[in-house]
Amino acid sequence: MDGIKIGSWTKVVVLTGAGISAESGIRTFRDSGGLWENHRIEDVATPSAFARDPVLVWDFYRQRYHNALASEPNAGHSALADMERKLKDNFHIITQNVDGLHRRAGNKNVVEMHGRLDKCFCTICGKQHFISDIELDHELPYCTKCEGLLRPDIVWFGEIPHDLDIIDRLIRKCNLFIVVGTSGVVYPAAGFVMAAKFSGAKTIGINLEAPHNFQYFDKFYEGKAGDILPGLVAKWLEFTAVHTLN
Ligand SMILES: [Zn+2]
Repeated sequence: MDGIKIGSWTKVVVLTGAGISAESGIRTFRDSGGLWENHRIEDVATPSAFARDPVLVWDFYRQRYHNALASEPNAGHSALADMERKLKDNFHIITQNVDGLHRRAGNKNVVEMHGRLDKCFCTICGKQHFISDIELDHELPYCTKCEGLLRPDIVWFGEIPHDLDIIDRLIRKCNLFIVVGTSGVVYPAAGFVMAAKFSGAKTIGINLEAPHNFQYFDKFYEGKAGDILPGLVAKWLEFTAVHTLN
């Protein structure tokens, strides 16, 4: 495996970004020069946008929620679910995606650092609600406990990602860190591969083009996650079938 012993894939953390979701047909702001359904980031994905026009922001996320539900996990997601089935709690995904496709593919150890489209929380009491439990068709949804305004459980621009302490621990104890479908531009996630490498992990990148943090990868594969991951994981599973992982 070009300097990365396949038998050493025993504690694996995978960081995924928009690229793997794009292969399931999910779009992002970056696809169209910062515009999405004719909305600018600053009009729908910041705390001040929500304060200014919560109806517009909820319209936007309601549509994204339905789009995510209508999408299906692809072969890249499935390969990562296969890895978790084998490694169990020695396998974790950290994802920048909010569409829930990793969980739907079968992964359980998923840190959704930018939140999730299928949840929201109360701006007054903080209570979390599943979108499926609220009246999403109303112009604005309200908390069943305190009647406060609900907001999407999405980490907006200018907000701090979820679970950074958990992420830090995962990165430090893995021996293989795989980055899938991110351009290595958005921090803090763009810094994770460097942190993993400095903690002693081997690093693999998979993306349509070389990411900005290319120099921290021991091995880089240019292409789609759905084309590359299934082959890599199949080879690894074949190896684990006849060798003990060490
Ligand atoms: Zn409440």
